[in-house]
Order: sequence, then structure tokens, then C-alpha cells
Amino acid sequence: MVRADWGVMKTAVVWFRRDLRLTDNPALAAAVAAAERIVPVYIHGPVSGGNWPMGSASRWWLHHSLEALDGSLRRLGSRLVTRRGAEFQSLVRLMIETGAGSVYWNRLYEPTAIARDTEIERVLRGEGLTVETFNSALLNEPWEIQREGGQPYRKFTPFWKAVRQRGLDRAPELPPKALPPVAETVAGVPLEELGLLPRIPWDAGFHEFWRAGEQAARQRLDEFVASALGRYPAQRDRPDLPATSRLSPHLHFGEIGPRQVVQAMRDDSAWIWKDGAEAYNRELGWREFAYHLLYHFPETTDEPLEPRFAGFPWAEGYQAHLAAWQQGRTGLPLVDAGMRELWHTGWMHNRVRMVVASFLTKNLLIPWQEGARWFWDILVDADLANNTLGWQWTAGCGADAAPYFRIFNPVLQGQRFDPEGAYVRRWVPELAGLPAAYIHKPWRAPSSVLEKAGVRLDNTYPRPIVDLKGSRERALAAFERIKKR
Ligand SMILES: Cc1cc2nc3c(=O)[nH]c(=O)nc-3n(C[C@H](O)[C@H](O)[C@H](O)COP(=O)(O)OP(=O)(O)OC[C@H]3O[C@@H](n4cnc5c(N)ncnc54)[C@H](O)[C@@H]3O)c2cc1C
Repeated sequence: MVRADWGVMKTAVVWFRRDLRLTDNPALAAAVAAAERIVPVYIHGPVSGGNWPMGSASRWWLHHSLEALDGSLRRLGSRLVTRRGAEFQSLVRLMIETGAGSVYWNRLYEPTAIARDTEIERVLRGEGLTVETFNSALLNEPWEIQREGGQPYRKFTPFWKAVRQRGLDRAPELPPKALPPVAETVAGVPLEELGLLPRIPWDAGFHEFWRAGEQAARQRLDEFVASALGRYPAQRDRPDLPATSRLSPHLHFGEIGPRQVVQAMRDDSAWIWKDGAEAYNRELGWREFAYHLLYHFPETTDEPLEPRFAGFPWAEGYQAHLAAWQQGRTGLPLVDAGMRELWHTGWMHNRVRMVVASFLTKNLLIPWQEGARWFWDILVDADLANNTLGWQWTAGCGADAAPYFRIFNPVLQGQRFDPEGAYVRRWVPELAGLPAAYIHKPWRAPSSVLEKAGVRLDNTYPRPIVDLKGSRERALAAFERIKKR
């Protein structure tokens, strides 16, 4: 099929996917070491993602990230060739056009990506072509960390211990100093034609919060280390403070890799905050754990890991409640603040993700898959491994899950983690005039307080759509029904 012209000059295709960076990119580094001509390509497949095609916010991010990658490649003398179409056919066509005898890529771990890549690799190798694949996304491959006896881990603490024992000190690859130009005859489609940006401009707010690309990722990491790492252990659960790194979309798209982040944590500027650096590495450990689980239990993107939950008595006819949750109109201020932060910025604080997920799956008894789908479309960091773990963990049906009876109370969580109500005031401005004592439970405020704050319940802001105590008891009773199975 492909008849590569090996000629005197060796040509290699580097297939970029979710490794949109030049530093610590082992596929790129290996191609540069092996070939004289390099063709960097991004292929936009028609149905990439199988059951989980890329959501709107991710597509927005991808557009800007590809733009940034092209800029970085151009600065080194190359450019990104962007193609549209089925990945295999597009790759083969490009290899024929350029006479490339080899293709290099960094591995993905989603079930559909693994199936596709394995097949492409098999066919190309069968044609005598060189296919080299690498790990750029994880500290360890999901199969490298095993329990005695070879089974995968289901609990985070022993998993993380095994990762630590293996060591975190693998040095990142350096970026190439220069790259050979791509021949002008190699055409691509303009980025705009991939149709990644929304037709209705709902993304206006996103620009205020995010800048995609490798340089922006590095800058965000450096700023986080300088300004917040020392406070991270104490404040990482506070949504009202800028206490976490917000690196998640950058990590998802591979604009920065975990090895680079771990290395940054070992630098003197970070290591003076040793506790912060350790705590931060541990969070990266959760990301590793999520990929470990996705790899070994690929069905968990749609099915509960804990089989008893397959027969869980979820609520019926929940559409109105689901819509109120999606729109941030549940009457629970912390939940509503989170859902509106998500809508406006494409991101939500981790503590609040747990609270809104618990509220959906336990107080409203709506299947976690509904929440996972909504997050999937709206998060800029939507990540099949992390999202699946987060939802299954909160719903109580995943690996190392929160015990079912742990039902987050949005009022108590608000009082504890947003004590002055600054987070709620920011995202639910119609409550901004309420004093801290009532900001997380406006329905309990005396009418004089409500009036002074300009809050009219059922009018400017809803009452809670469920009674917290009653819905908690209903959830526990539902759990009892499956517990003994
Ligand atoms: C219901 C639910 C859904 C989630 N969906 C996603 C998702 O789609 N994509 C996603 O990246 N994260 C998801 N998370 C995990 C977590 O909320 C985010 O990674 C985190 O909020 C990102 O913010 P940050 O970069 O400031 O985190 P930091 O606190 O700065 O952490 C650094 C990095 O560690 C990783 N990390 C931190 N916490 C977790 C965690 N609990 N699980 C896995 N990795 C973690 C992330 O890559 C993060 O960027 C979800 C959590 C829940 C409870």
C-alpha cells in the first residue's frame, strides 16, 4: 500500500494528538534523532472518541492549542500540517505524498483510541513501515504499576505507594533546537475549516480565563509555584481562593506533561514548599490512578465499576431537576455557583465538583452518567479518565469510592470551604447582598434580611428544589436496597 521512498533523506511523520508541545515530547525527539525530514501533522477524525466525541469546550481549547503548536513549530523552522478525515487513510496519504518511511506518536489510553491505534500500527508495520510509539502523558504506563500477582490496583493509597517506590525522577526530554522545514507542496486545511469554534459565540467569557498552548501552560505552572504552592495543602479545597494550579486543561491536551510538572516540583523554588510539592505530586497521582483504572476497566466510562450499582433505583422523570442542576437554579447556592462557574469558564473547582456531583447523584438520585455527560461537553479539561473516576468516586460506585453514606451537604460544605461566601457572591450575584450567615442557606434568612439584600425567594432566586434531609434519607434507603446484593 504505502511505498515509501527511502531515498537518501529519511522522512518521518510525527502524529500529534494530545501531546501538543515540543518540550518533553518523546515521539518528536525520537523522530528528530532518526530522520532528516519531519512532517508534523494533526488529523481531525470524523468520529474521534467513539461514545465520547469531543465536547464543545474541548473543541474550543483544541483550536487554540493547535494554533499555538503551529506557532511553536514555525519558530523552529517547521509548521503543523492539519488534515481532516479518517486517521488511518489520512496518515497513509500523507506518508505516500511525503515519502515518509516512519511514523511516530505518543500513546493515548481511551478504549477507542487504543483500538484504532493498534490497528493502524499493525497495518503499517505489515507494510514494512516503521511505527514508534511513546509515553508522553503519564509518569508510568498503566500496565507498569501492578499489584503482586499482576492485578491492577483499585485503591489509591497502595497505588500511589507503588508509584513512589518506582520513583518519580524520570527527566523530561529537551525540546529540539531547530526543525527542518516542511515542503510547501505538503498541503493542509486551514485550522478554521476544522469547525472547532462555536457558531454561536458562547465562548466570549472563555478568553478572559484561559490561554491555550505550551507557553501558557509553563507560565501557569511557574506562577502557581511562585504564588500558591506554599498554601496548596491548606487551601486547595477553597473555591473562593486562587489556590490550585488550573493546569488541568493544559495537562489534558498535553501542553505540559506530568514529568515536567514533577521536575518543577523538585526545583529549589518549589522544594522550599516541600509539603506543597508533595501534596501537588499526590494530586497528579490521582490523575495517574484514573488512567490506570480506565486502561484496566475500560467499560467504566459507561458502567459502574461496582456491579451492584447496575441495578440502583435511580429517580424517574428527573428532567426538570436535571435542567435546574445544569442551569445553576437548584436553590442551593454552592451547587449553583459551581454550575455557573462551569458554564462561564469551562472549569470548576475540585471541591465544588464533588459537591455538585454528590447533589446530583444522591440528593436528586439522577444517574451519574447524566452528570458525566454534561461535564464532558462543558469542561475545558474534560478527560475521560479523570471524569469517569470523579463521577464514579462521588456516586460511590467506583474504585476507592466515597462510602455511599458520605453525602455532601452543600450548606455545610459552603460554610466550611467558602466561609465568607465570596465564591457564591461571584457566581450567584443575585445573592451578593446577603450576609455570610445566610449566603449558603438563603431560605433560612429572616424576611428583613432578604429584603435588605434584594432577594425575593421564588422570584429572584429559587428555594431548594429538594429538601436536603429528606433526600438524604431517600438516598440511603435506595442504597440499602442494593447493598445486600
Ligand atoms: C465529578 C468530577 C469530575 C471531574 N472531571 C474531571 C475532568 O474531566 N478532567 C480533569 O482533569 N479532572 C477532573 N476532575 C478532577 C479535578 O476536579 C480536576 O482535575 C481539578 O479540579 C483541576 O483543577 P486544577 O488543575 O486546579 O487542580 P490542582 O489541584 O492544581 O491539581 C493538579 C492536577 O492534578 C490532577 N488532579 C487533581 N485532582 C484530581 C482528581 N481528583 N482526579 C484526577 N486528577 C486530579 C489534575 O490533572 C490537575 O490539573 C473531576 C473531579 C470530579 C469530582
